[in-house]
Amino acid sequence: MKGLKVELSVYDWLLLIILSHFDCFIVDSLAISIIPNCVFLVRLRTLDAVVITHSHADAIGGLDDLRDWTNNVQPHIPIYTAMRDLEVMKKTHYYLVDTSVIIPGAAVSELEFKIIHEDQPFVVNDLKITPLPVWHGSNYRSLGFRFGNVCYISDVSDIPEETYPLLKDCDLLIMDALRPDRSSATHFGLPRALEEVRKIKPKRTLFTGMMHLMDHEKVSEELEKIRDTEGLDVQLSYDGLRVPISI
Ligand SMILES: [Zn+2]
Repeated sequence: MKGLKVELSVYDWLLLIILSHFDCFIVDSLAISIIPNCVFLVRLRTLDAVVITHSHADAIGGLDDLRDWTNNVQPHIPIYTAMRDLEVMKKTHYYLVDTSVIIPGAAVSELEFKIIHEDQPFVVNDLKITPLPVWHGSNYRSLGFRFGNVCYISDVSDIPEETYPLLKDCDLLIMDALRPDRSSATHFGLPRALEEVRKIKPKRTLFTGMMHLMDHEKVSEELEKIRDTEGLDVQLSYDGLRVPISI
């Protein structure tokens, strides 16, 4: 992947809900995208991996939808996940984890589960991916991921001290910002997300995971003022946004 120009697609909540509730990114030999739905936009030919952030329904609900891919495009897809999230999938998607229960002839996703250790980087097709452990509510862990100088944290309510060093020298930060006014128990709101941007100091930040209360035009104007006064390059992401990156 070194030196190869790749493209990052960042989508917001609405597209995520309509198209399959995946909250992860896919690594391909030609492109990196946040959700599998990008296949329609960047014409991926193979999915090298799906990397799971956590096991809430909106983060793993799309596992079933991969069946059309494994039935028609490639025989199987590696799914990188923390053990705790695989334990959840053994209940929610037991037929994908233990394929012996599948009725012969039934069409389900063909997945190969691979375990992520949150303190260890892993490699997918020469791309090193470093887990970024964060809190997503009290006592609930979610993983962000760093690849090259891109850091992706989609579901976060607090960042543990030990994760900050992994965020150093970040060129592009993609960061959770659910509400415009305040944080919730499980997600950063915009004020807290901005506080974190000031602390992490990435070159550029795209916010993601916004709910309907986030008025795109109004908030974008506010962020522009922050860009002018503080020099923070912060922006709301939107459906179809593509960001070329080099890894
Ligand atoms: Zn969640």
